[in-house]
Amino acid sequence: MTDTLRKVIPLADMRYASRVPNVPARLSAPAGLLSDTLGRPLRDLRISVTDRCNFRCSYCMPSEVFDKDYAYLPQNSLLTFEEITRLAKIFVAHGVEKVRLTGGEPLLRKNLEVLIGQLARLQTPAGKPLDITLTTNGSLLARKAQQLKDAGLQRVTVSLDALDDAIFRRMNDVDFPVADVLAGIDAAHRAGLSPVKVNMVVKRGTNDCQIEPMARHFRHSGAVLRFIEYMDVGATNGWRMDEVLPSSQVIERLQAEFPLAAIDPNCSGETAERWRYLDSAGEIGVISSVTQAFCGQCNRARLSTEGKLFLCLFASQGHDLRALLRGNYADEQIAAAVGPIWQARSDRYSQVRAALPIDASPAGNNAKRVEMSYIGG
Ligand code: SAM
Ligand code: SF4
Ligand code: SF4
Repeated sequence: MTDTLRKVIPLADMRYASRVPNVPARLSAPAGLLSDTLGRPLRDLRISVTDRCNFRCSYCMPSEVFDKDYAYLPQNSLLTFEEITRLAKIFVAHGVEKVRLTGGEPLLRKNLEVLIGQLARLQTPAGKPLDITLTTNGSLLARKAQQLKDAGLQRVTVSLDALDDAIFRRMNDVDFPVADVLAGIDAAHRAGLSPVKVNMVVKRGTNDCQIEPMARHFRHSGAVLRFIEYMDVGATNGWRMDEVLPSSQVIERLQAEFPLAAIDPNCSGETAERWRYLDSAGEIGVISSVTQAFCGQCNRARLSTEGKLFLCLFASQGHDLRALLRGNYADEQIAAAVGPIWQARSDRYSQVRAALPIDASPAGNNAKRVEMSYIGG
């Protein structure tokens, strides 16, 4: 296949696969108690604030696709901070308690602290402040941690796939040094964005040799290191099952060096399975999206950079809320349109895939999925 052909993938089109939600004539006020067809509540909203990134992790934005000719979303199609806050308020009325800002690389969005300040003023129907967190590659965190904290950010998750500088530079594919991300993590600790979580996507044969060094480094640091199974998200990363290292093997390898005990989840719907070091060196987690699907508890909705609502990381179609925002609908009308969308939700992609033989899995049909950098991780 030539390079030109390899780039002709339908992901750009997938961004436009959406429908404008129906706005019901009879409005009913949100009661914070939405439940989907599988009885799952709506509690967590992930908001992508940009589809751009300064890294080119091959499992997310491979450089041969996301190159200088890639057509990112035009500025005027991005939701403004006011539009994001308006939607967040509607989702909070429907039961959302936690907002995670993501991307792309969220710290590339100019003046992000202004958005955080606006979100920090929202309250749940029970009068509690919204739990606001952010996932970042850490490249700009050393500079921005304190400012983000001052604006109202509570916690941060930093993605870091290796401690070895050469492996890390290869994985981010822009030659970015690991020391700068570590400096970002330190700055986050100092600013009180705690507990800092560190996410490592494990790709067998690429960075699994970093599992033990990462664990050694973050023991006793206060950071919670989480090992994520490499997922078949998007249509461009060339995912293969044989590159997935099951979390059970990660735990087995760590147990050989550091005895661990399983601990209870913090809350229902938590993606990570938690473990603690028996010598009180802290906590780690594993996120087994591939080998132990957790769809049964999935309470997450995703809002893309341009205001499309996705009900699953693997969805192939969004619901165009920006069309309502810019179509002069009142908040009550938009809220009334959102409720039935969640109530009709039946997505459970990972469970369905796990039940299929690998070569008959929906991954074989992966051209019909939006990218992680667009929908937000
Ligand atoms: N740029 C930010 C970052 O890297 O933290 C935020 C966006 S990124 C899409 C969110 C998370 O998704 C990161 O922790 C990243 O490692 C994870 N991720 C991206 N592609 C993935 C894949 N194919 N499998 C598992 N995790 C993935
Ligand atoms: Fe960028 Fe995050 Fe995707 Fe890596 S995982 S390419 S840092 S958006
Ligand atoms: Fe949730 Fe979809 Fe992931 Fe299942 S596959 S856990 S429904 S996002």
